[in-house]
Amino acid sequence: MNKSSALNLIVACWFLLVMPISARADDTLGQQPVFKAVDGLYSTQQDVKEILPINVEILSLKTLSEHDRVSAQAKVLKFQELDLTLNQAELYILHLIRANIANIEGQEHKVVNWLNQAIKLEPSLAKRQSNSPLFARAYLMLASIYERQGADKKAFDSKKIYIKKYFAYLKQQKSLRVKRLNEKYDIERKHEENELLRQNSQIKYLALSRAESERKQQNRNIAIFIVAAVILFLLLLRQFKIRRALTLLAKTDSLTLLPNRRSFFDNGYAYMEQALLEDRELSVLMLDIDHFKKINDSFGHDVGDKTLCNVAALANETMRSRDFLARIGGEEFAAILPDATIEQARAIAERMREKIQESSNENIDNNIQITVSIGLASIRDVRESFDGLLHAADMAMYQAKANGCNQVCSYCIELNEN
Ligand code: GH3
Ligand code: MG
Ligand code: MG
Repeated sequence: MNKSSALNLIVACWFLLVMPISARADDTLGQQPVFKAVDGLYSTQQDVKEILPINVEILSLKTLSEHDRVSAQAKVLKFQELDLTLNQAELYILHLIRANIANIEGQEHKVVNWLNQAIKLEPSLAKRQSNSPLFARAYLMLASIYERQGADKKAFDSKKIYIKKYFAYLKQQKSLRVKRLNEKYDIERKHEENELLRQNSQIKYLALSRAESERKQQNRNIAIFIVAAVILFLLLLRQFKIRRALTLLAKTDSLTLLPNRRSFFDNGYAYMEQALLEDRELSVLMLDIDHFKKINDSFGHDVGDKTLCNVAALANETMRSRDFLARIGGEEFAAILPDATIEQARAIAERMREKIQESSNENIDNNIQITVSIGLASIRDVRESFDGLLHAADMAMYQAKANGCNQVCSYCIELNEN
């Protein structure tokens, strides 16, 4: 076995040992067991250098240099004449081109020289750039030259570096793919989150507008309820006023506005019952206008009505606050005098009679003399009922008429007997 065959065997063994492991490692995440050895070649944390741009012309020149030495050499000369400022990466590729040209010519020492010059530039390149096959192939080429020259150790070392660089490159590509996928996933996740936020805000907006419309509806309902309640209240108030007016009307005499006969009797029964119960004084008064028919006949009904109103007002003025005066017939009036003895009742009646006589229908043009006859009765004389008491006062009033009108007469037992 010659030296070249031995080197090939060693490289093959090395591949047999490394590749299955890397294949298995590719199936799992991270490729950690394989790449541990090449971590020094590729580390994104330490590799802070920028990837340098490479002129496209240099790249096409490199491709050309691998097949057509003459054209490539001519173009390299032309390129050199341009005297362009090249960065370290472009210089690296240019050395590779020169090595390619020398390789075709079979000038191995030149190839090694150009390749070593290229490799010297490696520290100034970013690792992720120098590990790429475009640059790392310098080691592969160097290995093949050393192999041809029989320098097995150097060939082995160069190939080893190339393989390390190749795996570092694979790892780097994989990391990039993972990074891109992560970025893509992050973007998609952010889109989804944004969409979720948008939907949430839309739901909130809808909930707010729904709450707002419910609030407005509630306000409308409250307003309708208040208006309905006010209308109902006004209707009830009106009804109450009408009812009260009707009740008052039912108890009031429309001409004189004094309580009417019905009201007089309702009150009379109550006063009588209370006076009997508490054993208190009570007197009643009956008043009849003298010869009233003559007034009607002589001066007409209107004058008669005015006379009635005038007598009602004068009689009312004479009453005490607790007395109850009513019109109980055409020209007949009656009064309940609580706590009044027959003497006190007489005093009130006399005052009333005098006042009416004195007024003499002042407001009426014709000077008509108006007089009244008044009859009185006390609970001391008639206790059986209010009707009886009123009848007694009526009898006394007729006695006053019989005595010549314009006077006050009190009921007494003797009067009843007569
Ligand atoms: P006496 O002295 O005996 O009481 O005689 P009088 O004329 O007063 O009594 P009489 O009962 O004869 O007549 C009462 C009259 O009162 C008869 C009626 O036309 C009149 N009269 C009753 N109510 C009213 C009324 O509301 N207005 C007017 N203007 N007259 C009335
Ligand atoms: Mg009468
Ligand atoms: Mg009369």
